[in-house]
Amino acid sequence: MIDKLNRNIEYIRISVTDRCNLRCVYCMSEEGVENISHKEILSYDEIIRICKCVANLGIKKVKITGGEPLVRKDIVKLIKDIKSLSGIEEVTITTNGVLLYERAEELYEAGIDAVNISLDTLDKDKFLKITRRDKFEDVYKSINKLIDLGVRVKINCLSIKEYNLDEITKIANYAKYNNIDVRFIELMPIGYGKNFTGISNEVILGLLEDEYGSFKKVSEKRGNGPAVYYKNDKFKGYIGLISAISNEFCETCNRVRITANGFLKLCLHYNKGIDLKGPIRNNITDKELENMIYYAILNKPLGHNFYHDSNIENIESKNMVQIGG
Ligand code: SAM
Ligand code: SF4
Repeated sequence: MIDKLNRNIEYIRISVTDRCNLRCVYCMSEEGVENISHKEILSYDEIIRICKCVANLGIKKVKITGGEPLVRKDIVKLIKDIKSLSGIEEVTITTNGVLLYERAEELYEAGIDAVNISLDTLDKDKFLKITRRDKFEDVYKSINKLIDLGVRVKINCLSIKEYNLDEITKIANYAKYNNIDVRFIELMPIGYGKNFTGISNEVILGLLEDEYGSFKKVSEKRGNGPAVYYKNDKFKGYIGLISAISNEFCETCNRVRITANGFLKLCLHYNKGIDLKGPIRNNITDKELENMIYYAILNKPLGHNFYHDSNIENIESKNMVQIGG
């Protein structure tokens, strides 16, 4: 659907849980976040109901996220059910990869369209420092398994000066030797992200060009989001750069989010949105629900302003784990 600012909103990120089996330092504290009680979390039936409404409004692409989405029971069934809805063309998932190895075949059979795996380091000890869990091997073997199965894989690497400046070119090798995309994401000053120093994508591109020679920007559309993709002749896959900070992309933003407790979130940076869980549990009709969502999306805010307006009202105070990235 088209919002008031003439943006085509066709993509929704649905967080299915706020629980996670890692404790990434830029996302949460050692103790984790205070979890929402189970009864506050949307049931699968409620999620499907919302998906039907947004599909009617023209949303075609769904990303399942969390917390860690693979910790939620029967997640593959939900993915299958969303995929079967009329109007939904693509269902993808963003995961830390820890539980992916044993779910890989099931996801493949469910027809998942792509799996985004977060990976910030190839060093086991550094992985432990970043995530506070000794799970590097699980993620590593999951990535290889998905590649072997032929699932479309994207690696998402959050670039952080304190941790992986020296590993950027090594992580990019995934795209050199495989037909997969590696995307470098600029750290956003949200929640615990404020405690670390991001690396601009200009620096990332410089590092890659020093190592591998020139990368050309490609015009073809790959993926749903704001990544700008680059190709190097020696690479089988592509490099994507996601620059929320150095290159605002709010004017072409195509997405909204649903939090695990049913809040329709209209912009990453603002806490603006509407609660859907209350009305759903108070017997709102499908048409009323659809209208509610329509008017909220119609009025989606223009965009973020991470460094310029920290004093204005309505700034999001949640951590990424509570939003879903
Ligand atoms: N647990 C899953 C995962 O890690 O892929 C899904 C949820 S996680 C919140 C989604 C993404 O948000 C991850 O790729 C993570 O790197 C990213 N993220 C977390 N904190 C961030 C921050 N401050 N700035 C930018 N990205 C962030
Ligand atoms: Fe968990 Fe993902 Fe947050 Fe890491 S970034 S703590 S894996 S939700």
